[in-house]
Amino acid sequence: MIKPDGRLTLDLSQDDQPPRDACGVFGVWSPGEDVAKLAYFGLYALQHRGQESAGIAVSDGARIVVYKEMGLVAQVFDESVLSTLRGHVAVGHCRYSTSGSSVWENAQPTFRATPSASLALGHNGNLINTAELAALVGGRTAGRAGTPTSDTDVLTALFAAPGETVAADGHHPGVEAAALATLPLVRGAYSLVFMDEATLYAARDSYGFRPLVLGRLARGWVVASETAALDIVGATLVREVEPGELIAIDERGVRSARFAEPRPAGCLFEYVYLARPDTTISGRSVQSARVEVGRRLAAEHPVAADLVIPVPESGTPAAIGYAQASGIPYGQGLVKNSYVGRTFIQPSQTIRQRGIRLKLNPLREVIEGKRIVAVDDSIVRGNTQRAIVAMLREAGAAEVHVRISSPPVAWPCFFGIDFATRAELIAASLSVAEITESIGADSLGYVSLDGLTAATTLPAGQLCRACFDGAYPMQVPAGQGKHMLERAAAAGLGGPA
Ligand code: SF4
Repeated sequence: MIKPDGRLTLDLSQDDQPPRDACGVFGVWSPGEDVAKLAYFGLYALQHRGQESAGIAVSDGARIVVYKEMGLVAQVFDESVLSTLRGHVAVGHCRYSTSGSSVWENAQPTFRATPSASLALGHNGNLINTAELAALVGGRTAGRAGTPTSDTDVLTALFAAPGETVAADGHHPGVEAAALATLPLVRGAYSLVFMDEATLYAARDSYGFRPLVLGRLARGWVVASETAALDIVGATLVREVEPGELIAIDERGVRSARFAEPRPAGCLFEYVYLARPDTTISGRSVQSARVEVGRRLAAEHPVAADLVIPVPESGTPAAIGYAQASGIPYGQGLVKNSYVGRTFIQPSQTIRQRGIRLKLNPLREVIEGKRIVAVDDSIVRGNTQRAIVAMLREAGAAEVHVRISSPPVAWPCFFGIDFATRAELIAASLSVAEITESIGADSLGYVSLDGLTAATTLPAGQLCRACFDGAYPMQVPAGQGKHMLERAAAAGLGGPA
């Protein structure tokens, strides 16, 4: 990616792109707190959900100010920027793009002013009827050159649109009324935080694909993608925002309205990889679920070995569970560079060839001569696991047995996770035996879909498991993709409207 200043950004995390989330959202309403700082630390806790851009919108009751920039939360904000964001209500967002390119224009919160109110909005998820919704907007923004090209911008325009039309009696419908009228028309995955000058709102699609929780501060309220963000700002968990629910928070307290019947289908992959281990989803600790998956993996795919090692960090809980259930000692055989992400330095050809070593390095003295069980969370294209197996052999492993704490990922996600296309997913075209050969392992075992589901303690009917079994909770129209609005604009359609 070339930045506007001409610098080349190399994203080292994309060598074999792991599944990546579509964003973290955070909102706070509190007359007694520095809401910009709370939003900052909330986003800091949610950084794993999106690392391309970050933004915070704050209102003092009269005016909304938005600050957003490309980069990590800690790169985007400093004390001086935060000190300019004064008020009692804020929404924050950290982005990984699944709709529209990773450019400043698509960073969030989005902002729109209307005659009756201004609106700032952050979105975690992915819509699947964006073209239909953009047509409703009337082409005012979507797909035009130089304007935002994300599903979120279309949604923002729709929430603001009724405010642009003065009713016969001269009344401007507010943001809340516009949202309640619009949300039943929106299809796909969305956990939203948004605000007008005075009120914080949160809404979740009727399937509840992505998490969203409500927390209580001593003097106010917080909404966040994950409970871990509540912990960090000192909020206590009240409850999850229900699928199909819109919450409004102002000086009158918390109001709830239902805009759709709940049909729960929470994302199973949140338990595998996406959510922080110290987060709780539907009452289940993500860490506990992952350790339990490891135990089940050991029961389903036992092997004679000397040492269980995780592929850090996401393979760690399942490796602990595997070691506990199998009785094989647990150890650290791979060291991760925790700071790998973006660097502005282009690696030399020699460094590039080291590939995975930029992220992971083996501990030869731990590995040499041992039969290793390497536990990872998922296989997308297979490149990472192939490199890890080769690296472990190079470090002297006698045998390398790969165990994966999710079933084969064979279907793309349309609900806010960017895996790869189906053609790029190794499990879409190769059998487990063929993948074993492709990555060069002595053996390979994936946990079963039933085993993973059982570890969440939720019934299968309340989960989306589509990337594993292809059974999408809703029909996905053809032509869905990250760049659909940009393609429409490039084709001279003036946007899909
Ligand atoms: S398809 Fe997979 S990643 Fe996407 S929402 Fe469903 S379970 Fe989650």
